[in-house]
Amino acid sequence: MSTAARVFFEFDGSYARDVPDLSVPWTAASFPAPRLLLLNEPLAAELGVEPDALRAPEGLGLLVGAVPEGVVTTAQAYAGHQFGGYVPRLGDGRALLLGEVLDTGGHRRDLHLKGSGRTPFARGGDGKAAVGPMLREYLMGEAMHALGIPTTRALAVVATGEPVARETMLPGAVLTRVAASHLRVGTFQYAAAIAAASGGTEVLRALAAHAIARHHPEAAGAANPYLEFYRRVIEAQAALVARWMLVGFVHGVMNTDNMTISGETIDYGPCAFLDGYHPSTVFSSIDANGRYAYGNQPPVAQWNLARLAEALLPLIDPDPEAAVAAATDAVNGFAGAYRRHWSAGMAAKLGLTGTDTGSDPDLVTDLLTLLGEQRADFTGFFRALSEDLRGRGGPIRSLFGDPAAFDRWAERWRAALGAAGSGDRPARETVAAEMDRVNPVYVPRNHLVEEALAAATAGDLGPVERLLEVLARPFDERPGYEVYASPAPAGCPPHVTYCGT
Ligand code: AMP
Ligand code: MG
Repeated sequence: MSTAARVFFEFDGSYARDVPDLSVPWTAASFPAPRLLLLNEPLAAELGVEPDALRAPEGLGLLVGAVPEGVVTTAQAYAGHQFGGYVPRLGDGRALLLGEVLDTGGHRRDLHLKGSGRTPFARGGDGKAAVGPMLREYLMGEAMHALGIPTTRALAVVATGEPVARETMLPGAVLTRVAASHLRVGTFQYAAAIAAASGGTEVLRALAAHAIARHHPEAAGAANPYLEFYRRVIEAQAALVARWMLVGFVHGVMNTDNMTISGETIDYGPCAFLDGYHPSTVFSSIDANGRYAYGNQPPVAQWNLARLAEALLPLIDPDPEAAVAAATDAVNGFAGAYRRHWSAGMAAKLGLTGTDTGSDPDLVTDLLTLLGEQRADFTGFFRALSEDLRGRGGPIRSLFGDPAAFDRWAERWRAALGAAGSGDRPARETVAAEMDRVNPVYVPRNHLVEEALAAATAGDLGPVERLLEVLARPFDERPGYEVYASPAPAGCPPHVTYCGT
């Protein structure tokens, strides 16, 4: 490795080494006038690199793919089901893996560029990305991270100085993304297709070994390591999707190529947070049938995991029938795992942790029906509920068109809280404070995100920077920040995210 490379990162390439058939060496387009828009200093520190080194010309070059001599950047291959239809060859069409680094905690992280030019996987695409969608990925990833939800994160967004043609001409950008890995369900589908075509499972086996070592090392010691690996991916995804549901996050494009093996959220495209609650909420303009609607996310995750099982079958058991039986049994465990994570999370949101809700088993279901019927603001509701417990009940009633229906539910809720529901002020305050630790005040509200991205596209980064600052501490209510906690003003058209990513 050259000295220049070491100034920034000590890159490794275990993926290219372990599964050379699953990526191609490729170099980024050249960007003569890169300009740093955002740099994630805490993340740079986690990676053990000086932020100033990345601001210097050589560092900036790295962030658009001008790597030092000896560093081999690669485009990764993957397949995927997109909206249910199988596409055998997707891959990094406009992205490159810069390399892997060990962070200060000793964890292996991928450094990956998005918008770095056409690759052999580009198909009809231009290989480029626009400033708005790359800043959106930065914002959403940081918001999720601050909420404690596993996610890839952006290290930087650099303006390329070059226009990109979308519906209009837009300023171009490159995003540097940090991920536990870029192994996707679609990576396994691609490797399984190689196995099906050649009759040999070497590549698939090597990929599974790489994934096990990297993400689920405990599986290696199991009687059937591949089945155990599969179970652990199911568990990680069940936990992840439950977290999404509990904060009202809609991913928008849950194709199998956008689902990780690590359990991190990846590929922030037309994603958004719920304002008014309803399970059928869809934000993406390309999701006409609502396949990836808010309420469909758990079953879609399970469907995607069934596609992963299909890819893993030849490893799980040489006898196809036995392999199918074992994989089916495992994937059927998703629903229970999801429910376990979600129920515990929902109980915590309602201050019911450790409380017996058995006397009112429909309490949560009825709440969701109520919220859905009245399209009550999802994020606002849970914070207003703790305020209600503190005796400041005005704001919560204003979230409902028919507050009497809420009052009836609230009576049941207080009964379920037991002593704390009707108890003295300190007991109520304890529960309210616990609720506030899991219910965010600030999520990336769609209208604020759109406003901030429009300003940034026009050259003013101020609103994006302020939004990032607010979203970095989502649970601490701060005076003067009311606008960040409020839903879109009445009369705003419903939020739609167009897939001009
Ligand atoms: P996504 O919907 O962003 O997850 O991307 C799906 C596939 O389309 C991936 O293979 C991407 O690499 C590819 N892709 C998306 N946008 C472009 C683009 N502008 N140029 C080339 N490939 C692209
Ligand atoms: Mg993708």
